[in-house]
Amino acid sequence: MRVLSGLRPLATQKGLDLASTVPDDVPLACGDEGRITPCLMNLVGNALKFTQQGRVEVAVDLRNDLLHYRVVDTGPGIAQDRFETVFTEFRQADATVAGQFGGTGLGLSITKKFVELHGGRIGVESELGMSAKTILYVEDNELNRKIVRDLLRRTSYRLIEAADGEAGIATALEQRPDLILMDLQLPKVSGLDAVRTLRSAAATADTPIIAITSFALSGDQQKAKDAGASAYLAKPYSPFDLLSMIRSLTPET
Ligand code: MN
Repeated sequence: MRVLSGLRPLATQKGLDLASTVPDDVPLACGDEGRITPCLMNLVGNALKFTQQGRVEVAVDLRNDLLHYRVVDTGPGIAQDRFETVFTEFRQADATVAGQFGGTGLGLSITKKFVELHGGRIGVESELGMSAKTILYVEDNELNRKIVRDLLRRTSYRLIEAADGEAGIATALEQRPDLILMDLQLPKVSGLDAVRTLRSAAATADTPIIAITSFALSGDQQKAKDAGASAYLAKPYSPFDLLSMIRSLTPET
């Protein structure tokens, strides 16, 4: 997507993850690309500007025969009483973004006008100061990752993933998730070794870790506990059990 490649340097510079989710079944839409691209550039540019850590994601899906674009970020949020004015006043930040990207950034007020001229609507949702809790899932099995991804999509949790023990340790130290789901059978570094490493690092010494153990290997549960896991769940587990365990280990503060 042109929008993402144009803004990737800013994301990289700030150490932010910039991703897009476009399902295969999204139909081609007719529209003025010369207008829609700058609108998205502006929304994503704003999201990058105000997000200090985490990620910015652009998602597209079809809702009631209309294409629905979402720009989601892990920034500080917007107070509810600002929801109306955020699109009506020209903000200083818009000028800065425009300056950095050679005129591609439009004011949010202009973005709103373009969207409405296209027969669309624009809006904002925000949870001020209640940034979603982040869960890191370390699992080499893509199908298992997809199941948990689908499960958490309908919750307020934000999921990040790693496919081996080494990447899991690096991601945990870097992103400091609120909770870690750790499969024990992992390539590169085993789940048990990863738990031990994370327990010995200051950043993750107290992070709740749920070890996902194999049903067949009963000794795994004691080993997981000895390594420092906070809790364990044996495969196959029910989505309900996983969610309630996650909830009990990530209380609202
Ligand atoms: Mn595995």
